[in-house]
Amino acid sequence: MKRRTFLNTSIFASLGLFFGKAVFASSSNKQNVSISTSEKTLNNPVVVSTWKHGTEANKAAWKSLKLGKSALDAVELGVRVTESDVSNKSVGLGGRPDRDGNVTLDACIMNHESECGSVAFLQHIENPISVARKVMENTPHIMLVGSGALEFALENGFKKTNLLSPDTEAEWKRWKESETQKKPEINHENHDTIGMLAMDKEGNLSGACTTSGWAYKLPGRVGDSPLIGAGLFIDNEIGAACATGMGEAVIRIAGSHTVVELMRQGHSPTDACKLAVERIIKKHKNLEGLQVGFLALNKKGQSGAYSTYSGFNYAYTDQNKEELIDAAYKMEW
Ligand code: ASP
Repeated sequence: MKRRTFLNTSIFASLGLFFGKAVFASSSNKQNVSISTSEKTLNNPVVVSTWKHGTEANKAAWKSLKLGKSALDAVELGVRVTESDVSNKSVGLGGRPDRDGNVTLDACIMNHESECGSVAFLQHIENPISVARKVMENTPHIMLVGSGALEFALENGFKKTNLLSPDTEAEWKRWKESETQKKPEINHENHDTIGMLAMDKEGNLSGACTTSGWAYKLPGRVGDSPLIGAGLFIDNEIGAACATGMGEAVIRIAGSHTVVELMRQGHSPTDACKLAVERIIKKHKNLEGLQVGFLALNKKGQSGAYSTYSGFNYAYTDQNKEELIDAAYKMEW
């Protein structure tokens, strides 16, 4: 598990600068001196995201955090990189389609004020995360799905795009011909959903989660990724968590919410993820192919991850380092 130092000492304080007001009595009334200062504490920003594709996404998020932007802006900008990467076959543009050859996308976003937005079964839009943010900011709702989500996106200026790349189309055709209809493998070679969690210099947490879901799924299937509490959860008092892997298993234990609640009980990010994974294992009779990974970030900026099977990793970026960290896990494949 990676740890980092959480600086309670504000940079401004160390520079001798203070926000707030200081009221000094006149020299003739020194005994009534009243000083009221409110010192602003700055935090060291940090961003973490699932899988190796998180490395590129983190770069965009970090650039934004370094400019002093909010964690919310950072996670949106970060995961957009993965959504727009046509070579990534599990998120956004170029994502693998459902059984009938249609690419359907799920995404959600949540900020430090527990505001959130989500889209599911959204077609033809390259960056569902930005549509989710618009749902959060411009509507009284939290979740829009299917044709309603598409209509909302088009009304808000998003452009229709063909999401099926020649590569994923050819793969899908081969799959259809083979009629194996097997479950897609969810492992380190088949990079999955991107979930991203960030803390900005104000110490505020936000997160984003976006995916094309389970390849060759039944039409209409929605996984954990756009579900607040399953694929993503933020509580700015405690921490943030997101999930990747088999969404059906994550939903059954309200996975990300569970991880945050375990951190509330005092568990470290890694232990909270581990306990959630163990709960999933306990609730399933058949563990074959059941890869689920959780990633968590607490209010102190400490992160951790855990998965059912080996192979899960996450990208970590702060002011001192940029690395890909192997998650702890319960079982070898
Ligand atoms: N969790 C995603 C889903 O079930 C897929 C994944 O992460 O691979 O839709």
